[in-house]
Amino acid sequence: MIDFLFLDVGICYSCKKEEIYKYHLCQKCLDKLDYRGNSFKLSDNICYSLYFYNDFMKKLIADYKFNRNTCLKDVFSDMLYSFLVDNDLTDFDYILASPSSRKTVNKRGFDHIKLIVDSFSDKLEIKKLDEFKKVKNTKSQHTLNRFERSENLKGAFSLDKDINGSRILLIDDLITTGNTALEIIKELKKRGASEVVTLAICSERSVN
Ligand SMILES: [Zn+2]
Repeated sequence: MIDFLFLDVGICYSCKKEEIYKYHLCQKCLDKLDYRGNSFKLSDNICYSLYFYNDFMKKLIADYKFNRNTCLKDVFSDMLYSFLVDNDLTDFDYILASPSSRKTVNKRGFDHIKLIVDSFSDKLEIKKLDEFKKVKNTKSQHTLNRFERSENLKGAFSLDKDINGSRILLIDDLITTGNTALEIIKELKKRGASEVVTLAICSERSVN
């Protein structure tokens, strides 16, 4: 019983067996991740992605999003925060968590990317762009063809704030086609943002 009470202290947030090594994960779990530290362009905008979306990352994200293992937010926020600080990517006017629609948040019980961003935005002293909202409940992009994809996202976002000349850091969990991120970037630029840099935890694209 006493062992059970102390189980969580210093123990890996994923396997809940081994001692924490880094980012609240043990060495074994970290080794299962495929770090890339890639950067690529979405249209003309730079996008960084930390890990390849391999089976273990898939499991980690699913555990967090769908099994509501919300303590994993600390794992992801530590990864993102370390990358931003190590690469001197801290000079932004706003940070934006890629928004989910209200319907998705209600269904899931929490706003999964916002929860991650909330736990490191204060440390970076970057203001959050919470006014940027997803107002349309869109379909999953990968089920649609090219035309349907752009139609699907049309009018999906709203922003009631002047962001003219701002530099914005967009945070996402997974970049697949890059379509959704690009739509958000376009929306921000249309409203006068001077630069939008995207950072994702992982992507299905592999540059190296
Ligand atoms: Zn572990």
